[in-house]
Amino acid sequence: ALPVIYAITPTYTRPVQKAELTRLAQAFRQVARFHWIVVEDSTTRTDLVSRFLARSGVSFTHLHVYTPRRYKRAGMPRATEQRNLALTWLRQHRTKKDPGVVFFADDDNTYSLELFEEMRSTRGVSIWPVGFVGGRAYERPVVSGGKVVGWYTGWRPDRSFATDMAGFAVNLQVILANPRALFKRRGSQPGMQESDFLKQITKVTDLEPKASNCTRVLVWHTRTEKPHLTNEPSHRKDTIVIEV
Ligand code: UDP
Ligand code: MN
Repeated sequence: ALPVIYAITPTYTRPVQKAELTRLAQAFRQVARFHWIVVEDSTTRTDLVSRFLARSGVSFTHLHVYTPRRYKRAGMPRATEQRNLALTWLRQHRTKKDPGVVFFADDDNTYSLELFEEMRSTRGVSIWPVGFVGGRAYERPVVSGGKVVGWYTGWRPDRSFATDMAGFAVNLQVILANPRALFKRRGSQPGMQESDFLKQITKVTDLEPKASNCTRVLVWHTRTEKPHLTNEPSHRKDTIVIEV
């Protein structure tokens, strides 16, 4: 059987949340053998996300953990606790007998269906280019002789793994074999989450380049503009309540 792709999506309540999740679900439901681990940054599993997932047509697990307020500040890494909870869930609910590939899918990115077929063959840790990160049109691993030999990036090229959260996938067995590998709060500088995590589980020379030796962009680090809601009524609201 094909390995199951486990996509880990941290998400939080805001006006565009349902729109973002809709875009993701409509891509993910096209992917065979796919399991979506949605982790809300919330004190509960919200009704909006619960109802959404139930109707999404995607196989899912719905978790929640609220980010401590001291970590909710500009310049701090986002969604550390949510990604770690999903890793813990995998370690508790999957075993050596379960073939799988784990991928971190933020809720505002744009995913090509081809990306999932590329990552499905991940034996250890695979890697590929990502559009719109590192202060450039794309960031990519530089590949020679089938190995990663450097990084094309506009931001901190000294990073051991100069990649974005959306730029790699990990075989489930690597996650299980490294039970202490987690995203770090302490000692982790902004933008170093990916590199700090990958250091715990692999070496640059062992990375498996995907997307035609890292020459194609199949995922984009898009960011959604905040909608303008300045004309929302404070009184004389609509006569019905609509979920947006
Ligand atoms: N996120 C979250 N809680 C927050 C902020 C962000 O769970 O307080 C999630 C968000 O939904 C996304 C991921 O963390 O899936 C990365 O956040 P964002 O896209 O804002 O980061 P950036 O694009 O700036 O890296
Ligand atoms: Mn984002």
